[in-house]
Amino acid sequence: MSKPVVLTRRSQILDYSKSLRTQGKTIGLVPTMGALHEGHATLLRKSAEENDITIATIFVNPKQFGPLEDFGQYPRTFANDLLLLEACHTNAIFAPSIAEMYPPSFSTHVRVEKLDEVLCGAHRPGHFDGVCTVVMLLLNLANANKAYFGLKDFQQYSILQRMCHDLAHPTELIPVPTVREADGLAMSSRNRYLDAAARETALAIPSALAAVAKAFISGERNSGKLISVATSILEKFQLTPQYLELRDTETLSLVSGDLSSDAVLAIAQPIATADGVCRLIDNVVLSANPFYRSILDDLMGRTH
Ligand code: AMP
Repeated sequence: MSKPVVLTRRSQILDYSKSLRTQGKTIGLVPTMGALHEGHATLLRKSAEENDITIATIFVNPKQFGPLEDFGQYPRTFANDLLLLEACHTNAIFAPSIAEMYPPSFSTHVRVEKLDEVLCGAHRPGHFDGVCTVVMLLLNLANANKAYFGLKDFQQYSILQRMCHDLAHPTELIPVPTVREADGLAMSSRNRYLDAAARETALAIPSALAAVAKAFISGERNSGKLISVATSILEKFQLTPQYLELRDTETLSLVSGDLSSDAVLAIAQPIATADGVCRLIDNVVLSANPFYRSILDDLMGRTH
């Protein structure tokens, strides 16, 4: 294994990717905020399998955090991240400063309308503008053939797909299934905020999603009934979600009555910890499509 090259300047990553593309190499891009875990590793390994060169980015993007959110506290574990990146055969890491990404003259932002008005977008004003702006900049700098995004952030993936389609960006976005702990909890950099009791309570989230998956596979199609399967499990743990909604996977519009196309059951659940509150998100796509069906099976296999 050779150590990844660390790039910090816009000009360095532009030159790096340009010279590789001139040599006919394919490039996979994996944007992250660091504090890397097995979820990120899965994206990185997929990129390494499918491309000649993998570039990971580590940038805690201030534009996607609200004023009361955890930008200051967000875990920064660069030394450990380097080890994981090396083990995943990452060739280069782009880890710019804030000033390198957003010099004082920076005045552009990218917004995808409508899709950003629901779910997390409704509760985190400006969050997806920040995500779109940074991802468009990273895509332009990396000049990658493919870029990898996790389905744990389903709405983020939908919005970025819409952005790249609308603006004719040449990079292909690849969705990667959510990677879970053995007990079903979706891996997240924010899981390290959970103390033991909060970690136990958080298991209500995958349990609720798995129960809905099971009901769906058994033939339940009524949206109200599917939602109530999840709600009753959360209630047992005395949890009230910030949102728990069934939405069309393409348009993110609310599904009512019986499901007639693929739908995503998405949840945002605040979990009380010793030091405050940790907001976790998760989702499950209800679909007969084999790609999504294997994700349902994985979720159900991890929860009881
Ligand atoms: P983040 O560092 O949290 O911004 O995440 C960087 C990328 O990793 C995003 O595309 C996330 O959706 C993806 N990701 C984070 N956690 C997981 C997970 N548990 N499974 C799959 N992908 C993930």
